[in-house]
Amino acid sequence: MMRPFKIGALLGIPILVSPSWLFLFGGLSWVLATQLYPAALRHSSTTTHFLMAGSSVLLFFASIILHELAHSAVAKAYRIPVKSITLFLFGGVAQITREASKPMGEFLMAIAGPATSLVLGVLFAVTWFALGATNGGPLDVVLFWLAWMNGILALFNLLPAFPMDGGRVFRSLIWMFTGNYYRATNVASWAGRGIAWSMMATGALAAGGFNLYIAEGTFGGLWLILVGLFLENAARQGLLQNRLVHALRQYSAGDLMIADPPVVEPAMSVASLARGVLELNPRVCYFVEDHGKLAGIVSAYQMRAVPEGLWERTTAGEAMIPSSRLRATPADRPVHEVLIEMESENLLHMPVVTDGRVVGVIGRDRIITLLRQAGLLPAPR
Ligand SMILES: [Zn+2]
Repeated sequence: MMRPFKIGALLGIPILVSPSWLFLFGGLSWVLATQLYPAALRHSSTTTHFLMAGSSVLLFFASIILHELAHSAVAKAYRIPVKSITLFLFGGVAQITREASKPMGEFLMAIAGPATSLVLGVLFAVTWFALGATNGGPLDVVLFWLAWMNGILALFNLLPAFPMDGGRVFRSLIWMFTGNYYRATNVASWAGRGIAWSMMATGALAAGGFNLYIAEGTFGGLWLILVGLFLENAARQGLLQNRLVHALRQYSAGDLMIADPPVVEPAMSVASLARGVLELNPRVCYFVEDHGKLAGIVSAYQMRAVPEGLWERTTAGEAMIPSSRLRATPADRPVHEVLIEMESENLLHMPVVTDGRVVGVIGRDRIITLLRQAGLLPAPR
């Protein structure tokens, strides 16, 4: 997919246009200029219809930018940076870099967009009314369409389908009343998926010729299916991310860090650092293979056993523990048996061997980490 290009900036936020948006712009202008406006103004010229369509669509996208700008302004008030506002195939989106930390912030941030659309809709309707409302000129028709579209945009966005605006409002309310962010996100995401499936079903029925008032005909039906697919995907991602964040919530950086990493003085020579690798990393371990068969291992213990003066002249084959004295495991052996053997033999790692070849290595600390992750061992403090 091609990258969005910048058309300007508002409130210090870059406004981007994705190439996919050009399809929406073109399609919408075409439908207005060749179908809706000729039907509403039968006696006007084709040029008038196209001028009306062009200005309608431009003003509509200006309305969408104002909608996204409203989300962004609230985000900025909560000191949440906004990276950009992008127009794309399904309308607009503000790239708000993180979520609100309190339900009220999320509620205000989410409701600001639809509220702006509603206000714009009312403003267009009031202008339409003030200019005579029923004289049926081009300006009238355009204003009416803009009022109508902004109203639809407000209502559509208020559907309680996470991650749409209404879904975020819905989540913030559950979050506010239960205090449980995880459960609120789950409920709102499932509502989002349910609504997405209903959209796709409605779209399929409309494309099949049923008049359901929400969508009509093949084009309207297919469009609804596409929006449903997009929403389904976004809601599912929301659920996955929520599960991931929830699973990681019980850990802190301190739990997952490698404790006490090596620290050296600036005056130390690189040679002494290289030598020190053996002291600092007792887990360093090479597998020696001879003609494709495991011949032995050389770990830090074996390397340290060789005096430094003999390093150049000693081969891996001479320093290694030969395979005849090694404990290896086949790949399909149950891991608890491996762990018990490693504990009883005091081994830090064990080669995994298939047909005499080393295919991997299993570390005792890796098994311990796995058990901790599964909650079967207490996390180190
Ligand atoms: Zn919005």
